[in-house]
Amino acid sequence: MNEHIEHVNGTQLEDLIKTSKMPVIVDYFSDECPPCEVLAPIFEKMAEKYWAYIKFVKIMRQENRETALSMGVTGSPTVLFFKDGQEVGHRLNGFLTKPEVRKAIETILGDVLPPVEVKRVDCDLLILGGGPAGLAAGIYAGRAKLKTIIVEESICGGQIATTNHVSNYPGTDGTINGKVLAENMKAQALSFGVGIDDLKEIHEIHLAGPDKVILTEDVEYHGKAVILATGARPRALDVEGAEEYKGRGIHYCATCDGAMYEDADVLVIGGGSAAIEEAVFLTRFANHVTLVHRREGFRAAQTELEEAMANKKITFMTNKVVKAVVPGEFVLQAVVLQDVKTGEETTIPAVGVFVYVGNDPQTRLVAGQIELDAAGYIVADEDTKTSVKGVFAAGDVRTKTVRQVATATSDGAVAAIMAEKYLAL
Ligand code: NAP
Repeated sequence: MNEHIEHVNGTQLEDLIKTSKMPVIVDYFSDECPPCEVLAPIFEKMAEKYWAYIKFVKIMRQENRETALSMGVTGSPTVLFFKDGQEVGHRLNGFLTKPEVRKAIETILGDVLPPVEVKRVDCDLLILGGGPAGLAAGIYAGRAKLKTIIVEESICGGQIATTNHVSNYPGTDGTINGKVLAENMKAQALSFGVGIDDLKEIHEIHLAGPDKVILTEDVEYHGKAVILATGARPRALDVEGAEEYKGRGIHYCATCDGAMYEDADVLVIGGGSAAIEEAVFLTRFANHVTLVHRREGFRAAQTELEEAMANKKITFMTNKVVKAVVPGEFVLQAVVLQDVKTGEETTIPAVGVFVYVGNDPQTRLVAGQIELDAAGYIVADEDTKTSVKGVFAAGDVRTKTVRQVATATSDGAVAAIMAEKYLAL
């Protein structure tokens, strides 16, 4: 329990907002909510830094629904800011990063903290990213006795840490929880002496030359080789108003927000494995799920598709894209769908829309230093070697056709062995 964070109920929250002399930051969280678990350690870090300037408050949304709804909060986590009794700034929702939360706090407070002294850390191998690819690379590098540090912007685990269960990772029983699998990998890497620095804000990466450098807010890491395993992040629905209604009708996590739509009619957008799996998951709560996909063919595996097609609560609408969102007072009211063949537009009522339209590679900080393909993935073959000497790419961030936990960990193993060979030259 963090001494700088106050846990409140609805009445206490309303009182505190009215009476607090300091600005207030509120984290509405839920149980069984992977993005809430990602936010929790970020919120704690921020509380350690800014507690003297802003009051940190947490409230469980499921137990305080009336207060949540009165504030227009229907998704978890939702972060709100208050000053002098009024809501200020922008709300934050969904999977949040430390820079996003820090910037939002600084927008309210200004630049109140003194500059931090940056220390230097040297190692043989730097691994950027603590998902399955980075952790597997760490396990192999640790076993090879390389002085290895994994630098991760969020908490370790990557996308599997947000998955209810992983059914196809070899050697597990088919029901393992994604977070548990990630924690097992992390423990294994730590047991081989690997350093893991998570929740680091990465400001710059320098890949050219024999000394590879990663600059964070308080550490300058130097490595003789680097493995880029930064993965990919869910792509947002690129429609005007979708960002504003994120957490208030537009959602990216059925596990977190699905239960809010008990007996409601919801939409799922996308035609890959994630969209199909989550549409089936949502039938546990929703009265009906309409899966909207932009073409007739699906990327999802045939078995997943057949399971969804056999489910009486799911209807498929193909050749349709979301053209616009129709705002309600607080929450979403409807969406406008456009037929990609005829151009015809239809407005359908929708209080909840779950978006699974793929992922974007996390390569912003290395763009311009290394060869990327047209979609922004790092060009590297099965040997994981990139266009820059001493730099390897593993997992979802690499050009490849199959993105699975098993292929990410195998990439990590290959990258660590290639890095070891490179360092031995
Ligand atoms: P994905 O396979 O890339 O599928 C994204 C879907 O969204 C595609 O059907 C795509 O349509 C559609 N889409 C993309 N941009 C769109 C837009 N702007 N508007 C409307 N639709 C759009 O992504 P994913 O389902 O998130 O899966 C990502 C990776 O994880 C895949 O490699 C997948 O195999 C893996 N995965 C595996 C499992 C599992 O093994 N159990 C579960 C989940 C994910 P098009 O088809 O027309 O491009």
